[in-house]
Amino acid sequence: MTTATVIPAAVLAPPAERFVCQECGCGVTIERMTRGAAFAIISVQGAPDDTSFGIGASGDPLCPEGHGGMLPDPVDGEADPGEVPPLSQAELFDLAQPFNFEGAYLELERLTVTVDEFARIAEADKKQAAAARKTWEDAATRLHKATLELRRRRLAKLRQPAPEEAPPEAPED
Ligand SMILES: [Zn+2]
Repeated sequence: MTTATVIPAAVLAPPAERFVCQECGCGVTIERMTRGAAFAIISVQGAPDDTSFGIGASGDPLCPEGHGGMLPDPVDGEADPGEVPPLSQAELFDLAQPFNFEGAYLELERLTVTVDEFARIAEADKKQAAAARKTWEDAATRLHKATLELRRRRLAKLRQPAPEEAPPEAPED
């Protein structure tokens, strides 16, 4: 029995939450700790990066300027827990990276050498095949000639009467 284990995205990485102070507009993006009311600061907006944020009664961050509890930012809402943001084609295939001209050229060189090798193998195989065909045709020719010669001798024997039974009135031509 095969059991596929699906790990919810929320377990792999807790969803980030963004809070904004309605008074001064400073913001903070946090990731809640698994236990307790603590949180880790991911980024700070509108305040120095090393700003420390207090924790309110609800476990939400407090404004460092003393404006009280900050509110969840409705505009920059993060994905729902368990929802995996879809990857774009550019992310999947590295299309966002600058084109690697040197790597592409070296790959072309490598492929050219490979094609050349296969061409020489095909050429050698062609010569070998021609030699094998010649051997086959020579043998077939020898067989054909031998068969015809033996048939000729057999028919000649049939036409030739045995010497002791040869009637005198039937001379050899
Ligand atoms: Zn504030």
